[in-house]
Amino acid sequence: MQEFDIIVVGGGHAGCEAALASARMGMKTAIFTISLDTIGVMSCNPSLGGPAKSHLAREIDALGGEMGRNIDKTFIQIRVLNTRKGPAVRSLRAQADKMAYANEMKKTLEHTDNLSVIQGMVSELVVEEENGKKIIKGIKIREGLEYRAKAVILATGTFLRGLIHIGEINFSAGRMGELSSEDLPLSLEKVGLKLGRFKTGTPTRIDGRTIDYSVLEEQPGDKSQVLKFSNRTKDEDALGRKQISCYIAHTNEKVHEIIRNAKERSPLFNGTIHGLGPRYCPSIEDKIFRYPDKNQHHLFLEREGYETNEIYLGGLSSSLPVDVQEEMIKNIKGFENAKIMRYAYAIEYDYVPPEEIKYTLESRTVENLFLAGQINGTSGYEEAGAQGLMAGINAVRKLRNEEPVILDRADSYIGTLIDDLVSKGTNEPYRMFTARSEYRLYLREDNADLRLTKLGYELGLIPEEEYQRVEKKRKDVGIITEILTKTNVGPSNPRVNEILLKRGESPIKDGSTLLELLRRPEVTFEDIKYISEEIKGLDLKDYNQDTTYQVEITVKYEGYINRALKMIEKHKSMENKKIPTDIDYDDLKTIPKEAKDKLKRIKPINIGQASRISGVSPADIQAILIYLKMRG
Ligand code: FAD
Repeated sequence: MQEFDIIVVGGGHAGCEAALASARMGMKTAIFTISLDTIGVMSCNPSLGGPAKSHLAREIDALGGEMGRNIDKTFIQIRVLNTRKGPAVRSLRAQADKMAYANEMKKTLEHTDNLSVIQGMVSELVVEEENGKKIIKGIKIREGLEYRAKAVILATGTFLRGLIHIGEINFSAGRMGELSSEDLPLSLEKVGLKLGRFKTGTPTRIDGRTIDYSVLEEQPGDKSQVLKFSNRTKDEDALGRKQISCYIAHTNEKVHEIIRNAKERSPLFNGTIHGLGPRYCPSIEDKIFRYPDKNQHHLFLEREGYETNEIYLGGLSSSLPVDVQEEMIKNIKGFENAKIMRYAYAIEYDYVPPEEIKYTLESRTVENLFLAGQINGTSGYEEAGAQGLMAGINAVRKLRNEEPVILDRADSYIGTLIDDLVSKGTNEPYRMFTARSEYRLYLREDNADLRLTKLGYELGLIPEEEYQRVEKKRKDVGIITEILTKTNVGPSNPRVNEILLKRGESPIKDGSTLLELLRRPEVTFEDIKYISEEIKGLDLKDYNQDTTYQVEITVKYEGYINRALKMIEKHKSMENKKIPTDIDYDDLKTIPKEAKDKLKRIKPINIGQASRISGVSPADIQAILIYLKMRG
């Protein structure tokens, strides 16, 4: 019987990050997956990033995860979304060569020390009772072997009792063409975990050779600047990647009519699907019935790789029968001769309601069992990767008897994600939005490295060189800001009013600091550099764009950022009020039973967390504060 420190079940986005973190932190680790050929596969859209998701991906990178580096090696298009909106929502989005992304991730796993990569369908958890506690001891695979481990991380995605629906047809599968995991959910129930049912869906894929692109809107990538998810990717490698265009098409009234006429054949509407789907990622039939007044919807055409003609049709996720899908496609402008390569489908699967997990992602029922990714009720690669990384880190820390790493929601989107899941639970697949963070002006993708690299370094996941680079950036931002504050310019510098007029800003008559100039909405750091060339002894040209962008954002949005920092200060004062683990909520007579039950189950570690639990009122929080004060 083979023995490991940590076993990870699942080779998806959560499982890969968990296994890499565990192995890189020195644990003897094994990752199990149903098929070695589908490690790191993007089940749905061949892309990473976009609002809030890019924030998560950058945070994963800053903590030493793999997702950012992997997409930088395999993207076929990259650009920044929301460039006209504020910096909080500005976000990087990359289109992946889907198979290259998966292959690259598999290669990384296979070349990581301490990590065994094993194909096997895990059918059972080995759990033993010790002193009245259930403790994980390992796993069994369907092939009949048992593997022992001190901790197990479950990251099984949409595979638990996965059931695919296409119109009137349904069949078991974890994803199209892959086995579903039928025994493991029974084992989870047997050891006392509750299971719920969610659903998600994926769109039709078209043969790109059969599309008339001349009538569609082109969306090229951005090659004008260095864009990358990971700071550890070399600029020249990111800039050197060949990029290909995406396109936009639209549905129309005819397509909507086809969908309306097929309503009774949709498993979503005829009662066949019971699981709840992601409200913010609806199928096309959902959109047609939810927004009857809209006479068109956008469709985003994304090629799935350099070497394939398969085109992903973002926005056309569906569970309608294949004949209806054929009819829909033929009636879209530019698709008159289009040939479908893969049909859209919906999938229902078991998940574990996140009330089951602690803030460390460890199960409340079985000790040393951790859960990460879609199994916790989330949706999305970045959400999965973030949890995988944290589960990996915390499993290692637990085995080493070290303090857990619980990220604060004021410091990261990863913290926000886990706090939301654990404190509030979710009754639909949870995906991240910038609106979920009350501190979004501070939690930007551009400062993820400044916020989290130090922690990644302390955990042993970030190399010294990268840590030093980030610390230099932090120092340089301070130095440049001071220079800008202290440097005065006047109209005698010919470049000042030249730039101001060019930018549509009013010219200056008297002196101004460079900082005041940069604060003007239309003036960029590049303009300040240009002006500074006329100032003797001042040299700003050697600072890189990453650093100067940071200065620009912090100067321009200083007021907003300071407001966010004040809120964070207030928030931290609540987070710093710890709740002792031995608190007996039954002593607090004024707290209603429902709130008490939740507090007892979720076991918040501080007052801030307690206050975010749904059903716990401000009066209950006051009662806890008074009680703690009296206890001394
Ligand atoms: P997955 O990526 O699903 O990986 C699960 C892994 O676990 C696989 O490697 C599998 O082999 C392994 N596994 C499962 N059971 C066992 C077992 N018993 N033994 C061994 N290995 C096992 N997300 C979005 O953000 N937007 C979307 O539009 C979207 N649409 C989707 C449509 C479909 C059809 C599907 C299937 C998923 C969709 N998703 C979407 C979700 C996205 O794919 C997941 O959120 C993400 O992949 C979850 O990552 P994960 O690591 O948790 O699980």
